Amino acid sequence: MMIAEKIHQIQDVLPQGVKLVVVSKFHPTDKILEVYRQGIRDFGENLAQEMLLKEKALPKDIRWHFIGRLQRNKVRQIIPFVSMIHSVDSELLYEEIVKRAAAVPRCVDILFQVHIAQEETKGGFSPEEAEEKILQLCCRSGDAPYRRVRGLMGMATNTDNLDQVRQEFAMLHRIFQDVKAKLPQEQGAEAFDTLSMGMSHDWKIAVEEGSSLIRVGSLIMGEREY
Ligand SMILES: *Cc1c(COP(=O)(O)O)cnc(C)c1O
Repeated sequence: MMIAEKIHQIQDVLPQGVKLVVVSKFHPTDKILEVYRQGIRDFGENLAQEMLLKEKALPKDIRWHFIGRLQRNKVRQIIPFVSMIHSVDSELLYEEIVKRAAAVPRCVDILFQVHIAQEETKGGFSPEEAEEKILQLCCRSGDAPYRRVRGLMGMATNTDNLDQVRQEFAMLHRIFQDVKAKLPQEQGAEAFDTLSMGMSHDWKIAVEEGSSLIRVGSLIMGEREY
């Protein structure tokens, strides 16, 4: 199937208001342009250096989403242009992002990552600590000019047990709603509108469980060559 068909197959059934980010990590720029020509403007990458090189080489109206584990010493490289950082998984990383955004200066959209999977390799705040921690960080009003907290991101366990995947997404949705309900209006409750969950193999379940942004790579772009 052509890339165009694959994109349209997803777009045709994606509910209104659910955004598609195409994960282009490890794919060359000419392949990204093929996707771009289908009207896609949101692309996800998980390595700072790779994102930097692609940003230089590709059209300026692309919105770059950083979705991988972000080392603090790489924040400075991507902060001038990154559209959204999905993977804020510690207070120290949050502070580095605010500091570097203030130096530009600019305001960057961020999501806090929550560890919903039964897999040690995945990052994020634990579900137990997430709500309290995130509310604390949202209430640092001095940071407001430099970051907009848009919501949460999570990855489900990579398993064939679809009930488990569904439960993990449902848990993230609950945490999202709890945080949103407790956010004071003046701390940007309205801007807290993004629940980033769902990848190639589980995006349909994620959408059923309340996702507002899916991150799809291999289903559209094919297997990655590492
Ligand atoms: C690689 C990656 C994706 C996309 O994975 P696919 O299975 O290729 O769709 C989505 N989210 C994150 C955080 C990733 O690292």
